[in-house]
Amino acid sequence: MSKHADSAHPTRPAVAWIGLGIMGSPMSENLIKAGYDVTGFTLEQDKLDRLTAAGGTAAGSIAEAVRDADVVITMVPASPQVEAIAYGPDGILENARAGTLLIDMSSITPQTSVDLAKAAVEKGIRVLDAPVSGGEAGAIEAVLSIMVGGGQSDFEEAEPIFDALGRTIVLCGPHGSGQTVKAANQLIVAVNIQACAEAVVFLEKSGVDLAAALDVLNGGLAGSTVLTRKKDNFLNRDFKPGFRIDLHHKDMGIVTDAARNVGAALPVGAVVAQLVASLRAQGDGGLDHSALLRSVERLSGAQL
Ligand code: NAD
Repeated sequence: MSKHADSAHPTRPAVAWIGLGIMGSPMSENLIKAGYDVTGFTLEQDKLDRLTAAGGTAAGSIAEAVRDADVVITMVPASPQVEAIAYGPDGILENARAGTLLIDMSSITPQTSVDLAKAAVEKGIRVLDAPVSGGEAGAIEAVLSIMVGGGQSDFEEAEPIFDALGRTIVLCGPHGSGQTVKAANQLIVAVNIQACAEAVVFLEKSGVDLAAALDVLNGGLAGSTVLTRKKDNFLNRDFKPGFRIDLHHKDMGIVTDAARNVGAALPVGAVVAQLVASLRAQGDGGLDHSALLRSVERLSGAQL
């Protein structure tokens, strides 16, 4: 532990948090609630104000945020943003101290995670890829699944932080493994949402009480966390994100590309990837991924 560690809690590392969006804001707030000293940087001023209101410290740049940190956590949209915040003179690798543990919780390509870990070693910085599943609700409730790639001792060092953010926390293998598991997660979630959306349109057109039908379905083998979490989105046509179609489009690209690289066929996943891409092309990229329902409705004759 460095001399920069949180003085009120000498056993807790000082944390820098980069990327305070839908996920990063509630996650960083859970760390603050657990007693961590969190300094954050993100692009939106209102998110920095939210961090300050929650008891964190707002920084004016990445360099300022990471300078005195023991642990740097990143939660930005995709590989290009991870590369933008990690590399270059203003980036994390140039400005964090040797010995820092960098935990990237964004969902990105496994190769980007592998490359980042290699570049960081040259600066004496250790890296874990630690993408999450559970959505905004899971972030708020600190019940995320966290899939980790990297070294065993770095994982053990990060475990108290992960415990403050999630419930199911697993080291999946070396660098990039967390991202590979997350890609599989996104495949399962997209296909599951698509199946639920098709069932919703089928049930409504058949004149069945949708709320009653979804309740009983969710109690049987067709039940899922997707159905539990997204049922009200379907019932109320409430597609406020949540998890944006734009981000799921990115993830379907990651999983189809990674699967092709290892010779795994994803026939259903490939179709759902096209449906996600089509929804985005129709201007729905900013909606929650439960808006896959709109795509099925359009295919079934609705003018939306
Ligand atoms: P978001 O768009 O709400 O937030 C991203 C944040 O990154 C923004 O606040 C933005 O300011 C910040 N950012 C981007 N570039 C930056 C830069 N150069 N410097 C500093 N900050 C920068 O996205 P989100 O929904 O919170 O998702 C973040 C990651 O988590 C994505 O990889 C996503 O796939 C993944 N994820 C999201 C969910 C979800 O339900 N939203 C669930 C699991 C995983």
